[in-house]
Amino acid sequence: MPRTDRLLRDPRLSVAVERLGVDVVKGAVREAQRRAREGRIPPEDVPETALALLPGTACGLRPVINATGVLLHTNLGRATLSAAARQAVQEAAGPTDVELDLATGVRARRGRSALAALRGRVPSAGAAHVVNNGAAALVLAATALAAGREVVVSRGEMVEIGDGFRLPDLLVSTGARLREVGTTNRTSAADYAAVIGPDTGFVLKVHPSNFRITGFTRSAQTAELTGLGVPVVVDIGSGLLAPHPALPDEPDAETQLRAGASLVTASGDKLLGGPQCGLLLGDPDLVTALARHPLARALRVDKLTLAALKATLTGPPTPTARALTADPARLRTRADRLAHGLAADGIDVRAVASAATVGGGGAPGVTLPSAALSLPEPYAAALRTGSVPVVGRLESGRCLLDLRAVPEQDDERLAQAVRSVRPGGEGRA
Ligand SMILES: *Cc1c(COP(=O)(O)O)cnc(C)c1O
Repeated sequence: MPRTDRLLRDPRLSVAVERLGVDVVKGAVREAQRRAREGRIPPEDVPETALALLPGTACGLRPVINATGVLLHTNLGRATLSAAARQAVQEAAGPTDVELDLATGVRARRGRSALAALRGRVPSAGAAHVVNNGAAALVLAATALAAGREVVVSRGEMVEIGDGFRLPDLLVSTGARLREVGTTNRTSAADYAAVIGPDTGFVLKVHPSNFRITGFTRSAQTAELTGLGVPVVVDIGSGLLAPHPALPDEPDAETQLRAGASLVTASGDKLLGGPQCGLLLGDPDLVTALARHPLARALRVDKLTLAALKATLTGPPTPTARALTADPARLRTRADRLAHGLAADGIDVRAVASAATVGGGGAPGVTLPSAALSLPEPYAAALRTGSVPVVGRLESGRCLLDLRAVPEQDDERLAQAVRSVRPGGEGRA
């Protein structure tokens, strides 16, 4: 039986110790030795077996291929960071000047380059602040501007985002009171005006991002609410900074600020395509008041987030942007090529037309023409639990692998993942 100390000198296992820590590697070695003692593997296979038992990553998360056709899948961590943003996270991992001016040696505004980049992309924002996520941005606004006072909001915009997360509950948790106006389907500017008073903290417009009300409807536009003498806060949700031609109904920060919004709140990891964070953009006095509020410290982002956000804002188009604008004909060509190669290996696969969605609570009702591989249903579970997990979706008794959210450079990994789980194939690793 190979001894543990000798095994740990195997260069492949000693590299793994650097990556995963000695306890994890020792655990895999002991398990491999146990299998050899029980006669399940020959003793000379112990090093290989131990290597195979090691986790693929130290992060405790399994990287997956998102073939769901949902561009921003909440359960898969929403936006994929660009190569530039990943590089930025690496660069910022050690000590950085996140809060220090190296020229003068004195403390500087935390994350100033990310904030400047944000203002560069949203010219109408007089100031910007970044917090932990979109919900935190709302909490900070409600706490600083309306604790013990009223937030005026339309009954048509009392939204549940997902997983039981309700914006009204969040707002009330800050000590603000909700002053509901209008009805589910119709709210006018006069409804807001009628309740404005000394107790009003602000008027809140919420983008009902994951549903649509159609038929006999009416809602007040931001520009109609700016003359009421109180701040107008607009939660746009998805983080579009400027209008996007593919998503004409999705509100964006620049347009809302131009229309007179005092403050816009949004998420960083939806359509902006960056790291999880919450953006606050708008009136300099309000933004400064929020940034100086004691709660801001509890909601602040770390240097890794600031680095990834900066690189997202100034770098090349994000994977999210690319997926959004991917050419359907190109997606079909990729699907045909993949299906052709896999069918040649005897797999029951065909390329099919598909409909992708934006997801992440954005662009409800918008479908994006896409292409997918159609496989027998049992592939869904097998692919999810394979060595490179692939998450597809089930439709009409078939497992669909939609290519719109899959970067083209991952096509070969995707094909390999399908091959490795085919019945009679190499089996699961
Ligand atoms: C997603 C969303 C939020 C919450 O943002 P998180 O970044 O998930 O905290 C709030 N409001 C709207 C309109 C949203 O779409």
